[in-house]
Order: sequence, then structure tokens, then C-alpha cells
Amino acid sequence: MSYIMTTDKLTKTYGTKDAAKDISIHIREGEIYGLIGRNGAGKTTIMRMLSGLSTPTSGTFSLFGDKGDAAKRHLSKVGVLIEHPGIYPNISAYENIKIKCIAMGCNDSEYIKNILNLVGLENVGDKDTGSFSLGMRQRLGIGLALVGDPKLIILDEPINGLDPQGIVEVRQMLEKLRDEKEITIMISSHILDELGKLADSYGIIHEGKLIDEFTTEELSSRCGQYVTVKTSQTDAAVKALKSAGYKLVLVDNDNNVRISEKLDESAKMIKTLVNANVDVKEAFIKNVSLEDYYLSVTGGQHNG
Ligand code: ATP
Repeated sequence: MSYIMTTDKLTKTYGTKDAAKDISIHIREGEIYGLIGRNGAGKTTIMRMLSGLSTPTSGTFSLFGDKGDAAKRHLSKVGVLIEHPGIYPNISAYENIKIKCIAMGCNDSEYIKNILNLVGLENVGDKDTGSFSLGMRQRLGIGLALVGDPKLIILDEPINGLDPQGIVEVRQMLEKLRDEKEITIMISSHILDELGKLADSYGIIHEGKLIDEFTTEELSSRCGQYVTVKTSQTDAAVKALKSAGYKLVLVDNDNNVRISEKLDESAKMIKTLVNANVDVKEAFIKNVSLEDYYLSVTGGQHNG
């Protein structure tokens, strides 16, 4: 798979603050790329530069294999939903899409209906968008980003604030755009559980820097599994396990003991704990999640 967009040391400085510093991102054609980071990490700043909405202080990006001015010319093939979508509340979804179509030089009712269909708004009729739910507004925002047949769409927090049903609808719609329309998607989200179900690759942004970039396959081969032990005596459990020779033992955010080595010895681990009079409530083998991995590389709490 080739790259549709890459950046080389892209930096945006406001005054003396680097909102994004030396960002070198690689987005493959046809994938969903998830941008992860807590509030203020720099995700929107990066997405604005990639969409051509703000000029980098330094660094370059390439789009469809071209750099510099040639790359900028390709920005017409990039659809964007950043911050609030520009939706007029007193008219219908159809009319909103139509206005964008006219601005972009096309006014074909079949084309507009097709976009409404892609984002699941084909049956909303003439209803004013002012009465839409947040999920419907987000889907209309994505519909607006699709006008002009972009090859890449950049979506900043499109599932933020949606109810579980709305989140599933947006996820299914994005999968359809990737799988059936072959649109590459870059999406930022705080909801790591959901992003973990959707994305093919990830970039972790922390304090303005890209600290890691990986595919889902790399994530599972890097992290694998671990044994979790639930106990009220975490200190005693860690001490007993370390005395028995286990080195990769830590206490996670839920105050459970986690052992990330020799998983085939889980019965022996429990025996070690029982012999040390540690009260074991539960023990099981778990897969490392995207959130676990994010916490391990950023070393802190997730604020999603
Ligand atoms: P959020 O999820 O809260 O939107 P984010 O990861 O998208 O967070 P950014 O909005 O990119 O983060 O902000 C990164 C940093 O840059 C923040 O400290 C923010 O205050 C600062 N920043 C962003 N835009 C500007 C601006 N126009 N002027 C000055 N500082 C800015």
C-alpha cells in the first residue's frame, strides 16, 4: 500500500509555544488513520495544517506523492470536518449539501441524493437541520466533506459527544466509505475503545509531538497479552511475584496486578500468591487494548 500523505517535521508555533513540533506522519492509501492524544495535545493543529486551513511554521508535507506547491494543488482532493461543520440550521440537509455543491461548481440532484445516502440521511426529507440530533449533524458534516469526491477526508473528533447508537452509525458509515468508496480517512478521537475498533493505523500525539506511529498488527505483536490478578493486597502480591523471579510486574490504573511475561505459568503465579497468603479474588489473561498501550507510552491518565 502506498502513502497518500506524509509529513516531514511539520511544525506550528504560536508565539513561543510549539503547538505541533517535528511531526512526521505516514497515512497509507485506503486506510483509516487514527490520531490519538489528550486535550491540547496538538491534534487539531496538525489536522488544520494537513487540510490547508493553516500554514505550517516549518516542515513540509507530501500529498499523492507530490511536495510543495504541487502538493497544495492536490488539497482540492481532501475533504475536511474540523471543529463545527458549517451547517445552515433553517434549511434541509439536501439544501445544505446543494449550497456546497453549487460553490464547488456542481448542482446535480442525483449527486446530492447520493451523498445523503452515503451518510445515512436519505430519509430526513425537508426537515430543518436545526432540529437534527448531534449524530445527524455530524453525519451531515461528513456529507459536506464528501462534496467534490475527495480521496482523503480529515475528521476532527467526529464522534465526540455522540450517544452509543450515534457512534456505531458513524463507525459503520466510515467503514463503508473506506471499503466501498476507497476513501482514505484520518480521524481524531478521545474515545480509544471506539477508535480501536475502527482504525488501521494510529499516531499518538503527546505535548505537540508524534511519539509513536503503528498499525493494528504492530500493536498486537508489540503488546500481546498479560495476566491480571485482582486482589486487595497489591503490594504483597507484587513483592511475592518479584521474589519468585517475575520481573514484568506492575499495578495498573484499576489497582490490579499485571504480569506481562510467562503467561503459560499463570497457575504457578496464583500458587505463589496463595502461598504468600495473598487474597486472590480473580485472575485472567487479557489482551492489551489501544488504551492500555496509549497509557503505557504517554505514562499517564487518559482524559477521554
Ligand atoms: P482538543 O482535543 O482539546 O481540541 P488538540 O489536541 O486538538 O486538543 P490543539 O487544539 O491542536 O489540541 O492545541 C494544541 C495547543 O496549541 C494547545 O495548547 C492550544 O492552546 C494551542 N493553540 C491552538 N491554537 C492556537 C492559536 N490559534 N493560538 C495560540 N495557541 C493555540
